[in-house]
Amino acid sequence: MWSPAVKVKNMRVNGNKITIQTNKTLKDVRWTSGNIAELKRKVSFWLLGHEQGKVTIQVGNTDIESFVTNCAKGISPTGKPHDLMDRHIALYPSHGLYYNRQRDEWIWQRATLWTTVEDLYSYEYVRLIRRMLENAGATVYMPRADLDQSLGISGMPQWTEGARYWLMGHEADSTLWNLYEGDEYKDDMKCRGLWINSLDAPIDLCLALHTDGIDSGDDTTIVGTLAIYTAKDDEGHKQLRDGRDRETVNRNLADWIQTQVTNDLRTIAPEWTRRQLKEANYCESRVPVMPSLILELLSHKNMADMRYGLDPQFRFTASRAVYKGILRYLNGTNAVVQPLPVKELAIHEDGLLQWKPTVDSLEPTAMPTYYMVYIQKNNGEWDVQQVEETTELRLELQNNVMYNCYIVAGNDGGLSLRSPMVSAYLNDQTANDQLVLVVDGFNEVYGPQWFADSTHAGIAPNSYACEDYITCAYIGQQWNYTRAEEWKDDDNCGWGACYRDHAGELTVGNTHDYAVQHGRVLRRLKISYVSCTPDMIASYRKDDVPEFDFSLIDYICGRNRQPLSEDTKSLLEIYLGQAGRILLSTDHFSAIEPAWAKRYLNASYYAAQATRSGRITSRRHRLYQLVMEPNTEQLFTCTPEGLKPENGAVKTATYEDMRCTAAVGKEQASLVYGFPLEAVQDFDKIYKHAIEWLLSLQ
Ligand SMILES: [Zn+2]
Repeated sequence: MWSPAVKVKNMRVNGNKITIQTNKTLKDVRWTSGNIAELKRKVSFWLLGHEQGKVTIQVGNTDIESFVTNCAKGISPTGKPHDLMDRHIALYPSHGLYYNRQRDEWIWQRATLWTTVEDLYSYEYVRLIRRMLENAGATVYMPRADLDQSLGISGMPQWTEGARYWLMGHEADSTLWNLYEGDEYKDDMKCRGLWINSLDAPIDLCLALHTDGIDSGDDTTIVGTLAIYTAKDDEGHKQLRDGRDRETVNRNLADWIQTQVTNDLRTIAPEWTRRQLKEANYCESRVPVMPSLILELLSHKNMADMRYGLDPQFRFTASRAVYKGILRYLNGTNAVVQPLPVKELAIHEDGLLQWKPTVDSLEPTAMPTYYMVYIQKNNGEWDVQQVEETTELRLELQNNVMYNCYIVAGNDGGLSLRSPMVSAYLNDQTANDQLVLVVDGFNEVYGPQWFADSTHAGIAPNSYACEDYITCAYIGQQWNYTRAEEWKDDDNCGWGACYRDHAGELTVGNTHDYAVQHGRVLRRLKISYVSCTPDMIASYRKDDVPEFDFSLIDYICGRNRQPLSEDTKSLLEIYLGQAGRILLSTDHFSAIEPAWAKRYLNASYYAAQATRSGRITSRRHRLYQLVMEPNTEQLFTCTPEGLKPENGAVKTATYEDMRCTAAVGKEQASLVYGFPLEAVQDFDKIYKHAIEWLLSLQ
C-alpha cells in the first residue's frame, strides 16, 4: 500500500565515490544494516554499472545509518526485571465526545463507520492493553474515565467523552485543559500530553492509540499500522526531560511497538501492512517530555482493515502485541511475556479442580509457572489460592454450597487474563441422586459476516460480532453499502456509514460464566452438578470405568460457529450410548454433522433465520422471548435456526412468527434448541423447564 515519495536533492559522483542527499521521506522507512547495504549496492549499480562503489546516503543532513534504531540493531536493555513492576506508563484512547460551540452540539471527533467510531473503537484496545500492563505490574495513567456507566457532562457515559472533560471533572488545573478559548477539540488533543507532564510520577513512556482514516479504495487492500513520533518540542528543543535525544529515543520506542504489532498481526493476517516509521509533528507525540508515540493501529475507514478489526480475537492479539512491544522496549531480552489465559478447566464431584495451561506458540517465555485459583462460595467474597508446580487443586466441597471458580495463570512476566468459570454444587436434601454435568462449550468470539460485490460491500445485514465479555465500541448497524459514495463530512460518511443508536452502550457478548448461570438454576432445583469446558470432558472418565455417571449432560454451545470436535462427539457417543440424556442449545445447529445430529440428538437442521420476532411458544403454551438485538444486559442471537424432529422425537417449542420448530425433544434422551438458551429473556424459566422435562421432574 505505502511506497515513499523520495526526492534526490543532491548527488555527487567522484570516481568510485557517490554521495546522495535525499528529502526526509526516506526516514519513514525502517532502516536496518541489511536494507541500507542493499540500497547502496543498487545505487552503485545504477550509477557506476557495478556494485562496488563507495556510497554515502544522507537523509536531510544526516547519514542514513543514524536512523537504524537500537531495536533494528538488536540492541536492547539487559539486566532489567522480567515484568513491568515499578514502571509508569501513560496510555490513552483517541478522541472522545466533545462540545462544538459553532454547532452547539456534543459530537464525535471522527466519522461513524462500520458499526463504530474511532473515539470509542480505540478504547477497545486501550482497556485491554491497560489490563495487560497492569497484570505485568505497571502503573497505568489514563486521562479518560474508567469504564463505569456514570454520566458525564454531555449526558452520555463519562467514558465516551474526551480527555478534556475527564480532567475538568477531576479538578485538574484549567491551564491544562482550557487553552484555545472555546475550541474544545484542540483543548482535548493538547491536554493529554500536558496532563502527563504535570504528573508527579516517573513516566517511562506515553502511548496514544489511534486508528487512521485512510481508504484503500477497495475491500481487500490492507492500510495497516503506522507509527508516529516527534523529534522536537514546541520550542524546537530536541531533548526529553531526562536529557536524552528525542528523535533517537522516540524512533526506537515506535520501532519496537510497530515491529511487534506487525509481526504478531501477520500470524493471523499474513497480508498485514507495515506503514511508515514516521517523524511528524502531532501534539500528542510532541507535548510529552518522556518517550512517546502515536500508534495508528489500522484504518477505521478501510473495509479490509475493519474486517479484521471488528473481530475481538484480532483486537486481543493486537493489544497483546502492544503490551509486548512496550515490555521489550523497556526490558529487552530479559522480558518474560505474561501467560495466555487458561481456557480448559473442570471441577469434579470429589472437589478436584483441574485445568490446562494455554500454550502461546509465539512466545516460549509465556508458559505459566504458577496459578491463582479464585473460589467463591454461594455469592460470597472471592477467595484466592496460589498453586505451583501442578495444574490441580482439591477443594473441600460442602454439601448444599455452590462453588464458582476461575483461574489466572502467572509467571515472572505477570498474570494472564482470567479463564472461563466453572461451578459445582452437591445437594444432600433430596432423595434423588441426580448429577448433571454442565459443559461450557461456548468458547468462541468472532467478528460479523461480510459481503462484497462490484457495487456494494460491507457487513452482512443482521450479522453481528460475538464479543469477548463486552464491547464499548458498537454504535449501530451499517446502513450505507454503496462503494461509490464518498466521505463528504463526518455526518455524511458515505460507504460504510452506520447508525449511532447504540453509542455509549456496552454490548454483551460471550461472558464465559455460563456454567454459573446454569448452576444457579440447578441449585434452586436442588440438583447436584459439576462443570467443565469441552476438552476436559474426558477427565470424568476413570481408567477402570469407561462410562460417565451423569443423569444428564447439559452442553452449552451458545453462539459457537464451529462444529463439535471429533473428541467431544466420541465422548458424547459413549455417554449417550449408555442411555444418557443430553440438553443442547445452539444457534448453529447446522454446523453439527447432520448424520451425527440425527442419530445422537434426534434432530436435524431445517431452516435459517427461523424467527424475527423472537417469540417462542412451548408445547405447554409457555411463552418465551428471545433477545435478538445487541444490548447491555445479556447474550443475544442473530441466527436462530429451525429444527426437525427425528427418531420419534417431538416438537417441544415453535417460533411463533415463522411457524417453525424451535426445539425438539425425545423423552429420557434429548432436548435440543435452535437458539442459545442464554439469549432467552427469562433464561431461568426456560432452563428450569428444560431440566424438569428431561429429568422427568414435573
Ligand atoms: Zn485519531
